Formats: sequence, structure tokens, C-alpha cells
Amino acid sequence: MKIKALAAMQAAAPLQPYSVERREVGPHDVRIEILYCGICHSDLHQVHDDWKGGIYPMVPGHEIIGRVAEVGASVHRFQTGMLTGVGCLVDSCRSCGPCQQHEEQYCVSGCVMTYNSYERDSKTPTFGGYSKQVVVDERYVLQVSDKLELSAVAPLLCAGITTFSPLKRFATKPKSRIGVMGLGGLGHMAVKIAAAMGHEVCMLSTSAKKAADAKRLGAHDFVLTTDADAERRLRRRFDLILNTVSAPHDVGAALNYLDLHGTMVILGAPPHGTQLHPGALIGGATQVAGSLVGGIKQTQEMLDFCAAHHLTADVELCGADEVNTAFARLRKNDVKYRFVIDMQTLN
Ligand code: NAP
Ligand code: ZN
Ligand code: ZN
Repeated sequence: MKIKALAAMQAAAPLQPYSVERREVGPHDVRIEILYCGICHSDLHQVHDDWKGGIYPMVPGHEIIGRVAEVGASVHRFQTGMLTGVGCLVDSCRSCGPCQQHEEQYCVSGCVMTYNSYERDSKTPTFGGYSKQVVVDERYVLQVSDKLELSAVAPLLCAGITTFSPLKRFATKPKSRIGVMGLGGLGHMAVKIAAAMGHEVCMLSTSAKKAADAKRLGAHDFVLTTDADAERRLRRRFDLILNTVSAPHDVGAALNYLDLHGTMVILGAPPHGTQLHPGALIGGATQVAGSLVGGIKQTQEMLDFCAAHHLTADVELCGADEVNTAFARLRKNDVKYRFVIDMQTLN
């Protein structure tokens, strides 16, 4: 089945109209008519091949909201017309340790990502949500509430789960002191979700103009990390820092913001890292961890949590013909706070 899409034909190329082949609906598959797809900074990294190994033509998009158009004979959880979400992964081996523990994103054989990846046959490329339709095994499809603004729900499928997951894992005290580094797509969801969980949240930003927004989003405090007295104000303040910064930066300096035994979780994935001096960790007995999106079960838990707390993203809706402008603005740190493509405008 030929489906209209937007693709980068090679690394760093602008997105252009393209058509992709979607498989016929198998017994366990759901065919989804895509309504909205968020633009994650990872889409920008991958189109620019920042992480190397990009597969082109590339159709990005892993923050997908759509309506079920067709279900396979053995599909039980979904019916035609239901609202659904698809996030960053669409398949995995289903039998390894991580898959058994509902952490399919860490599948030992490598999970199948929604795009820029290969199906389990290792040869069929996957194409993402900057397209009109997608076919996904029901085990990797999420149920979405119809009570929330759908375009603003789309970013939960990546920005939401990527911040929810480490909060569940590391913010174990009832009122943890949390620093969120970087007020972008991930950062703004981190603030909203952490505040809704009852934690004390401080926004750590390099953009003075975002201070008022940080407070509006739920942050209890805002510190401009480039200020002369930031180091003094932030020293030993947090139990947990969620680091969502998309560009290379001094991670070691920010470790000084952690209290004894505090943890920094790296979520941002710049093209390359910076050196970390052992003293930065030893001096405060701190730890650095990483976290990749979240498993399917936890993604459903996050969507249900957001529906219960009326949490959605702050979005700037754009048409299919505005995607390259959105990419350029995202690159310049100019978005409030997630671009979402209205896929009905792709004709
Ligand atoms: P985004 O909307 O562009 O936000 C990134 C933020 O980083 C910016 O808003 C800015 O915040 C800060 N920043 C940018 N350049 C900086 C610099 N040179 N120095 C210091 N701060 C800088 O991006 P996003 O969509 O939230 O994604 C953030 C990162 O997470 C990306 O690298 C993305 O690939 C990665 N990611 C990882 C996962 C995962 O599973 N781990 C999932 C999704 C995305 P301020 O203006 O407030 O400083
Ligand atoms: Zn993402
Ligand atoms: Zn597995």
C-alpha cells in the first residue's frame, strides 16, 4: 500500500513529499490513520545523521496520534475508529530479559524503532509518523483518551514517556528536589509531570526569556545557569537532575548541583559528549545514569497518568508545508515547546 509521507532523501536534506510502502494488515496489526505527529529534537538529529548510520530516504516521526482504520483478525484491544498512539518503538524480540520485564526499548536483539530502523527481518526499513498512515502490531499500540486535545497529546508519546520513566525510577522520595536542565520539548514535560507527581521542581535554563514560562508550566524556581551566581545558588541542591540538553555542554559542572548521593539522568543525546573528570563524581558521591524513552506498559501508564491530571504538551501546530521552517526554528531553540504536524494537511 503506497502512503503519502515527508522524507529526507539524504542526510541533512530538507523534508519533501515522498511515498512509502506500508505492509498489508496482518492478524495482529492495526492500520492507523495519522492525525498528528510531534517533531522531536531526535528527528532533527537523525535527519542530520548526528548519530551516524542513518537510513535514507528517512521519514521521521515517533509522536503519533491517530484513529484506527482497520484491524487484523486476531486484534482484541482495538476497533475501527478508536484513538491510538504510537511512540518510539514498534517491535522487539518479546522473549529476552528486558522484553519480559516490559522494557522493550532495551531489547537484547535491538528493538525495532518507529523509523530509521529495520523490521525484525533486518532488511525492511521502518518509516515514521510524518505520513498519512502506519501499520503497527497491536502490542506496540497505545490507547489514548478522547478527553484531551489530541494535537497536544502527541508529544507525550516521546517527550512525555522519556521524562516520566526516569521520574518513576529515580524520584523515589515523596517530595524529591528535582532540577530539569533545558526547557524544550522534553524539559517542559518533565516540569509538568514532576510537579504533578508532587515533587519540588527547579528549571535550569540557558535562556533568560523562558523564566516566566517555566513558572507557568509548574516549576517552583528558575535559575539561569549562565548567571554569575548560579553556581553558588545551585550547589548541592538536588536529589535528581533530568538533563535534557540537546547540545554538547559541561556535564561535570552540573554535577555540583547534586546533593550527596544525588543522581543525574542523561536524556539529551548531543552528537558527541564532553569529558567528565572523575573528581566531578567522586567529590559528591554522585551518580550519572541514562534512560531511553520507556517500555510500552509504562507508556500506557504515563498516558493514563496524564489523562487523570489533564496534562498535555504546549504545542505549536504546523502544516505539512511548514515542516522545514519548524526544523529550522527548533535548531535555533525557538519553539514553545513542541511543534506538532497536522497530518491532515499532507495532500
Ligand atoms: P529541544 O526541544 O530542542 O530542547 C532542548 C533544550 O536544550 C533547549 O530548549 C535548550 O534549553 C537546551 N539547549 C540547547 N542547546 C543548548 C546549549 N548549547 N547549551 C545548553 N543548553 C542548550 O529538544 P528535545 O526534543 O527536548 O530533546 C532534547 C534532547 O533529548 C535531544 O538531544 C533529543 O535527541 C534527546 N531525546 C532523548 C530521548 C531519550 O530517550 N533519552 C528521547 C527524546 C529525545 P534552554 O533554552 O532552557 O537552555
Ligand atoms: Zn523523541
Ligand atoms: Zn527482546
